[in-house]
Amino acid sequence: MHLYFHIPFCKTKCAYCAFYSCTETKLIDSFVDALCYEILLRKNELDQNEIIQTIYFGGGTPSLLSQHHFLQIFNTIKSICDISKCKEITIEVNPDDISAEYAKMLHSLPFNRISIGIQSTNNERLSFIQRRHDSQQAFDAVKQLQTNGFSNISLDLIFGFPNQTILELQNDLNSLIALQPTHISTYNLTFEGETPLVEKLKNKEIHELDENTSIQMYKTIINTLNQHGYLQYEVSNFAKKGKESIHNSCYWTQKPYIGYGPAAHSYDGKNIRRWNLSDLKKYIQSFENQTNIPFDTENLSQTDLANELLMTRLRTKKGLNIKDLASKTTEKELEKIEQKLLKFILSDDIKKQNQNYKLTKKGFLRTDYIISELFL
Ligand code: SF4
Repeated sequence: MHLYFHIPFCKTKCAYCAFYSCTETKLIDSFVDALCYEILLRKNELDQNEIIQTIYFGGGTPSLLSQHHFLQIFNTIKSICDISKCKEITIEVNPDDISAEYAKMLHSLPFNRISIGIQSTNNERLSFIQRRHDSQQAFDAVKQLQTNGFSNISLDLIFGFPNQTILELQNDLNSLIALQPTHISTYNLTFEGETPLVEKLKNKEIHELDENTSIQMYKTIINTLNQHGYLQYEVSNFAKKGKESIHNSCYWTQKPYIGYGPAAHSYDGKNIRRWNLSDLKKYIQSFENQTNIPFDTENLSQTDLANELLMTRLRTKKGLNIKDLASKTTEKELEKIEQKLLKFILSDDIKKQNQNYKLTKKGFLRTDYIISELFL
């Protein structure tokens, strides 16, 4: 079993972010009480002998929590299950929160992996997307965490800024590699939801990067990171050998997980998906009134399960195992998908190795299109 905790607070909102989070940090104490209430309320979803394999604190900004908050959460988890065999316990942090004291405090807790939202090493870009840190703060944060005992560190990088050049991206990559992280995640800047960047795009104040340059950038990322020993194991993720994220991999291999906190998703590993409502105030009220946490569920059909398998597995380096897909589809549907897969083999987007269909380098450049064509 894998556990996820959504910490829905940010000091300010970044211009591109459509994630659920709010800036009312004065509610953090009440939120942590409510989170611990939810852990206890849902304790029956965890077997007493259940082995917790990974824990992930994401957000929002988990690094807004204090030692006291983390101890409260960990003590509550430990009161209902054993986390001593947990292989990976990750916390996402923002560079501007990391001082020597904070890094030391994190290391005194069960965390053994850190994910840092660096996003860019160019100060103009950082201010364009309204991040709260500059590049020096990001470098200092990584150094502080390394000095204070963290060796398993992942860095996030955004590419595809308006007018960004390959040279600028190359500088970003070189700066990140020089910090010697074990893992790097790269994301194309997206314009989604109701964000200030979407507004600027609508008003034609900015323009999206053209597709050709985006593709060249993605190729640059793959080649540069490969040359420095970061192996691509998923469309957006690169790791030194043995440092792939175990927690994120659970989402791509349909493992069961429980998500706590507003907007967090859970999956039973079979056909039920559940998500807490994206409403912090109602979440806290549930604790105050000792009522159930507001959530919704969805029963996944065979078609949903097959599509999900296609989408998640093809995005990984291991690819899609045809036997796994066969267990989720009818013979007729499987035949249809295999015919489409053949078309992509002929166009050199997909290769077949034994029972696995894998995207080629060319295929990785148009993953979303290929997956949408294969959907049932
Ligand atoms: S810190 Fe992360 S979650 Fe918060 S607004 Fe920025 S991108 Fe979104």
